[in-house]
Amino acid sequence: MSILKALWPLRTAEAPAAEEPPPPAAVRAADVSQGPFRALVESLPDPVLVIEGDPDEPASRRIVFANAAARDLLPGRLEGMRLVTALRNPELLEAVDEALLGAPGSAQMEAGGAQERIWAVQTRPLGQGNFGRLALLTLRDETDVRRAERMRVDFLANASHELRTPLASLSGFIETLRGHAKDDEQARETFLGIMQAQAERMRRLIDDLMSLSRIELNEHIAPEGRLDLALAVTDVLDALVPLVREKNLCVSTQMPARGAADIDGDRDQILQVIQNLVENAVKYSGNEGALSITVSAPVADDSTTPALDPAATRITLLAPDRPAGRRFALLRVTDQGPGIPRDRLPRLTERFYRVEGQKSGGTRPGTGLGLAIVKHIVNRHRGGMAVESAEGRGASFSVWLPLAEKEAT
Ligand code: ADP
Repeated sequence: MSILKALWPLRTAEAPAAEEPPPPAAVRAADVSQGPFRALVESLPDPVLVIEGDPDEPASRRIVFANAAARDLLPGRLEGMRLVTALRNPELLEAVDEALLGAPGSAQMEAGGAQERIWAVQTRPLGQGNFGRLALLTLRDETDVRRAERMRVDFLANASHELRTPLASLSGFIETLRGHAKDDEQARETFLGIMQAQAERMRRLIDDLMSLSRIELNEHIAPEGRLDLALAVTDVLDALVPLVREKNLCVSTQMPARGAADIDGDRDQILQVIQNLVENAVKYSGNEGALSITVSAPVADDSTTPALDPAATRITLLAPDRPAGRRFALLRVTDQGPGIPRDRLPRLTERFYRVEGQKSGGTRPGTGLGLAIVKHIVNRHRGGMAVESAEGRGASFSVWLPLAEKEAT
């Protein structure tokens, strides 16, 4: 038995004359209600529709079968409904025309609503039905694929742009040094200093890009190792003393007892998280500002904690994966720098995103990748991340990571 006969067992047995007008929707729906293959098509995850109609008569096209996924997607009682009532996309209707005329067709359909989705449409001829030709119409949700594609293209464009800027500067200075500044010793020294800084910037960008791609590659693999978050913070702070001194910053710390903030994690990655957050706090602080760095444990999921400063806005940049009952170690890095405008807060972890007009204070301009790296690492560790800030009043970044199993209560 053909699949078609299985889907339309009653109608193929008693085919009426071709000129007969289509029966009412209820009769058609009943006709296709049984058959061994029906359950199979019905349960396919992608929407499947069968259209019947006269290729020369666009208004005659009706839906004679719609599986469960199609019924979820399109409102109303589909079987028996005119195709143009259910789907108005001109490209899709053209693809159905092609199939009714005997050739496969394809189209792309964007369905609006709160969440825009992109559907790849395929049509295939299914031969002659009782009241006209039949066409199969399948829809596949390609939103995620297209989104990933767009992100990849944007990412490459951004990365190339970021690398091209220091490169253009290097080329410019090389030209100058070979030309009119050739014999000017003072200019040579100045230009070589700038060139070194630009080369350093390129190196940092490449390091961050490599780091991000390595983290993304392993993001679904649980990290191995155990470390005390408080000790890790102390190690990072020790290494950053020269940077802190340079700006004459006052750093206050608050740490729990040794072992209280033990977490399961990849030590290098956790050090990277701490380093990025503390470096940002230093970078964006004015000279002689104050930083506060605290580790607390055990704490509950911090997603719902209100802002500590009533004038500030707090948003969750990453919610922890399984918060129910889990206990966490919380790291909070607070500065008194320029802060971040409220409407910019949600974008902070986007790659290459920088708040316009913000000065990072001197010799280490940012790559715009630091917080994206932090978010991916914290996600791999099934932790959470939040920021709290008010423009002109500083910023406070929190990261909380699940405590090692032995510490869980
Ligand atoms: P960058 O390398 O540019 O610092 P990040 O991803 O670490 O990149 O941060 C993204 C942007 O967020 C920064 O360019 C800056 O505009 C803003 N930002 C990050 N941390 C702070 C902070 N502590 N205070 C103010 N702005 C910050």
